[in-house]
Amino acid sequence: VVVGIVMWRQPPQHQEWKGAGTTAHFYEIILGRCYTYTQIVRPELGHKDCQKIGKAFTNAFLSKDPCGSTAQDYQPLMELTNQTVPCDKTLLWSKTNELVHEYAWVQRELFTLENTLLGYMADGLRWCGDLGSSEMNYQSCPDRRKDCSNNSVSVFWNTVSKRFAEDACGVVHVLLNGSVHNTFDERSTFARVEVFNLHPEKVHTLQAWVMQDIRNISSDSCSDASIKNLKLILSKRNITFTCENNYRPIRFLQCVKYPEHSSCRSKI
Ligand code: NAD
Repeated sequence: VVVGIVMWRQPPQHQEWKGAGTTAHFYEIILGRCYTYTQIVRPELGHKDCQKIGKAFTNAFLSKDPCGSTAQDYQPLMELTNQTVPCDKTLLWSKTNELVHEYAWVQRELFTLENTLLGYMADGLRWCGDLGSSEMNYQSCPDRRKDCSNNSVSVFWNTVSKRFAEDACGVVHVLLNGSVHNTFDERSTFARVEVFNLHPEKVHTLQAWVMQDIRNISSDSCSDASIKNLKLILSKRNITFTCENNYRPIRFLQCVKYPEHSSCRSKI
């Protein structure tokens, strides 16, 4: 007697991690962002092959241990997305995500990492794969503190941030937050990766703009201990450091949000 065998197709069993899973529609989002960037934002990059770039991105992490990610995994993606940023136009940041991008939106010639193709594609997204499956894990991904630091997302940002800093030339700017405990935070990507990958032969100066929250302006942030530490690190690397508190053009952006604040009311 032939007995029909009913097969249940189990959803793929992924490993469970403590962080949120891959962003829904990850592939479609990166592909769409690649086309938006190369066709509309920077049409001079219209020759880039977004299909190839999208494949190289997912190939970097699919079917792999999401806690064993390496810079090597992202090499093919890096090679397809090389891009020149003009000298003096690199803008780094730490703890100022919103403000820095408001400023870069107005000062169109400045480039944050998120204004380059690869940063633009990946900004705000999460992704990971699984050693035992060729699919993305939409359920969970490693948390960088609770699971592992060499997860697919962190390794990506470390790798692209390193290249972004290595490629910089002339004066490099950084927008820092003078209203947090460690304005220069040694654990940040800016401190761990970007500062150490600026090439002193190409980058003569790092100029910091330290912005304070307009609602509680305190004394001189440039003389903060953490900033002194940054200055020391740079002097050892033969890069001149300059620091400016509450840079006026960016203060004006803060004033757009709080126009009635006393520091915004004086006539220009
Ligand atoms: P930050 O502490 O303000 O972090 C900025 C963002 O990056 C936060 O959302 C944070 O959660 C995330 N992030 C930082 N380090 C990470 C890591 N190891 N793994 C996963 N996510 C991480 O400032 P920061 O750490 O100095 O990073 C900002 C600088 O580094 C910028 O100059 C930028 O070029 C680059 N960067 C950008 C991003 C991004 O999400 N767009 C992420 C990392 C680094």
